[in-house]
Amino acid sequence: MEISNRAQKLEPSVTLAASAKANALKAAGKDVLSLTVGEPDFTTPKNIQQAAIQAIESGKASYYTPSAGIKEIREAVVNYIESYYHLSYEAKNVIVTDGAKFALYLLFQAILNPNDEVIIPVPYWVSYGEQVKLAEGVPIFISCAQEKEFKVTVEQLEKARTDKTKLLILNSPSNPTGMIYSETELRKIGEWAVLHDILIVSDDIYGRLVYNGATFTPIATLSKAIQKQTIIINGVSKSYAMTGWRIGYAVGDETIISAMNDIASQSTSNPTAVSQYAAIEALSGEQETVEIMRQAFEARLNEIYPLFAALPGFKLEKPHGAFYLFPNIKETLTMCGYTDVTNWVDDLLAEAQVALVTGAGFGAPEHVRISYATDLDTLKEAVKRIKAFIEKKSIK
Ligand SMILES: *Cc1c(COP(=O)(O)O)cnc(C)c1O
Repeated sequence: MEISNRAQKLEPSVTLAASAKANALKAAGKDVLSLTVGEPDFTTPKNIQQAAIQAIESGKASYYTPSAGIKEIREAVVNYIESYYHLSYEAKNVIVTDGAKFALYLLFQAILNPNDEVIIPVPYWVSYGEQVKLAEGVPIFISCAQEKEFKVTVEQLEKARTDKTKLLILNSPSNPTGMIYSETELRKIGEWAVLHDILIVSDDIYGRLVYNGATFTPIATLSKAIQKQTIIINGVSKSYAMTGWRIGYAVGDETIISAMNDIASQSTSNPTAVSQYAAIEALSGEQETVEIMRQAFEARLNEIYPLFAALPGFKLEKPHGAFYLFPNIKETLTMCGYTDVTNWVDDLLAEAQVALVTGAGFGAPEHVRISYATDLDTLKEAVKRIKAFIEKKSIK
């Protein structure tokens, strides 16, 4: 049986592929250091685990739930957004989904018609473009310069705009770059979107993970008009170490949320009930563990950033959020006699047992993505191995 054109055209997730490859080598007994994963290395906080156990034992996690999530979790999201964004919504403005990834998927399915254009600043998170294509939309990629912290400007947006432009995707703090848009930058972008009636998709998943005094400004908070023009995408995966539970959400215009809910009702039915109960505790319970994890990421960043920045040929600025480094390694490649990052990354894994993700899947083929969501010893040992690998290749 031939598979669909849709499936044939799809680019599978490079990050999941890279970590699967590293894990396969580990399972075969190789001493692999994997800096590929996009998830916290902490386990889910105890209070959240307890809430899940209680939901199972009481029997309430046994059943289907409303497809947008139970009332309590939608209210927990409303209260969370009230506390952290100081914005008021009602439960009908919220859909809870199987991870933020699926919230994005539902949004594109709910809003895009064939050939509608979606502006995606580059570097981008791996799934945006592919999900837009699955909804028959057209991703319009805008290259953002490393010198400008990989941030898109209104001038660039205006150049890319056509009468088919329907959405703009923003991700601040960014995966993979760790950069954060300032309030002034966001205000300009927000006003531009309002002026041209372009919906802003604000992927705020790393909003709680910012470091060294940086602040996260959600674009939706900048004016009433911008709020109306924005769909907030967020979830519990990254800030609460809950990637495996699969709970995300979208908040915004009732008509759009309702269309997303219709599609959810005919596809997944509902996000897993037990995970919803766990996520309620995450969003409304004590928040100290979030801060403890944030501080741990910050301490690692401060310790390992200078080490990676000093690697021969690595060009990178210090990130302000998320948990990735995204160096341009073009010079390193030249030193080592390579022209393609993928070959270099493959050989690094084969010869030095360090796994990184190539930048190509993020639209930036001169870069590699390094996750520091792993312990310091692993990170330091990885730096040593990468250095030795570059030196070995440079002598030839
Ligand atoms: C991890 C991630 C998501 C998706 O998270 P879920 O686990 O699906 O909730 C969305 N956007 C970005 C930028 C991410 O890094």
